[in-house]
Amino acid sequence: MDKEKEFYKELEARGVSRREFFKYCAATAAVLGLSELDFTAKVVHALGSAAKKPPVIWLEGQDCAGCSIAFTGTLNPPAASIILDKISLRYHEAIMAASGYHSESAYRETVKEGGYILVVEGSIPSADDRFCMVGGRPFREMVEEAAEKAVGIIAVGACASYGGIPGAGPTKGIGLNKALPGRAVINLPTCPVHKDHLVGTILYFLTTGKIPPLDEIGRPKAYFGQSVHDNCRRRSYFDEGLFLKDWNDPRQKDWCLYEKGCKGPDTYSDCPVRRWNDGINFCIDCGAGCMGCAEPDFYAGMSPLFSANSIRSRNIMARKKAGLIPKKSEL
Ligand code: SF4
Repeated sequence: MDKEKEFYKELEARGVSRREFFKYCAATAAVLGLSELDFTAKVVHALGSAAKKPPVIWLEGQDCAGCSIAFTGTLNPPAASIILDKISLRYHEAIMAASGYHSESAYRETVKEGGYILVVEGSIPSADDRFCMVGGRPFREMVEEAAEKAVGIIAVGACASYGGIPGAGPTKGIGLNKALPGRAVINLPTCPVHKDHLVGTILYFLTTGKIPPLDEIGRPKAYFGQSVHDNCRRRSYFDEGLFLKDWNDPRQKDWCLYEKGCKGPDTYSDCPVRRWNDGINFCIDCGAGCMGCAEPDFYAGMSPLFSANSIRSRNIMARKKAGLIPKKSEL
C-alpha cells in the first residue's frame, strides 16, 4: 500500500492528477472490455510496486526504429508516459545507456532470469541470416532464445508482425508469426506501432495475466476489429462515387481518396477513431490514402501505394460495383 501511495505522489510530482490517471485507465479498460475500477486498481498495484517492476526485453531487427521512436516519444497523455516509464526496460540496443559487453551481459542475465515481456521490432531475414546480425550472431537466434523464457511476446509494428517493408526486399523479412511457429504472439502492426496499442496491450497482460482476445492474424480485436473505411469521414463520398482526382481543386478537398490509392476498405485498425500524434490527425485526414500498414501483405500487397493501379485497389472497386461493400447508411 505504501508503494501505491508513493506511486500517487509520483503522479502528482509529474503534474498528473489522480483524476487524469484514472480517466486514461478507464478509457483503456473500456476499449479492452475490462472492468474500469478493477483495471485501474490493478494498474496502480502492478506499477506502484517497485519490486514487481515488469521486466521488458526489446529487440530490434530489420527496422527503421520508427516503433522505438513512437515508444520513446510517448509524452501525451502524461499518464501513458508514466506507465511506460514504469516498466523495467532491461535491454534495448538503441536507447539503453550500456553498450558492447555490458549491454550483452544485461541481455543474457535477463534471459537467464526469465519472466519478462519480449517486445520485438523489425523483421527477421528468411533469405540469409547474415542480413541481420547482432553481437556477431544471427538476429533470428536471438529472437528464438529470448522467446523461450518470455511470459508474453509482442510484435510491434508491421515488420515484426508480418515482415513489413523488408518482407518485400531481398532479405525476405518475416514476422514473429512465421519465425516463432507455435508460440502465441500478440501482433501490433501499423507502421509504426501506435503507443496506445502498446500501452493497452502491456497493461492488459499485467493486470489479467492473459493475452487480449485476438483476431485470426494475432491482432487485439479491441484495436483492429473495424475497418478504416467503416470509420472514415470521407465514407459518404466513396458511397456516392466521388473520388478525389485533383488536390488543387478545393471542391474535392473532402472527397474519397480511393483513386489516390487508399486501401481503407481492406485495412482493419482504429486509426480514424484513435488518430495519431497524440490524437491530432491520421493519414486520411492529412490527405494521404490509407496504405494498409495494419495488414499482413503490407508493403508488397498494397503497392503501388498512391494510385488505384494495384490488384488490391481493383478488387475494392469490383466489390463496390457488385454491392459487396455496404454503404455507411446500411451499416
Ligand atoms: Fe476513406 Fe479510403 Fe474508404 Fe475513401 S476508400 S472512404 S478515403 S477509407
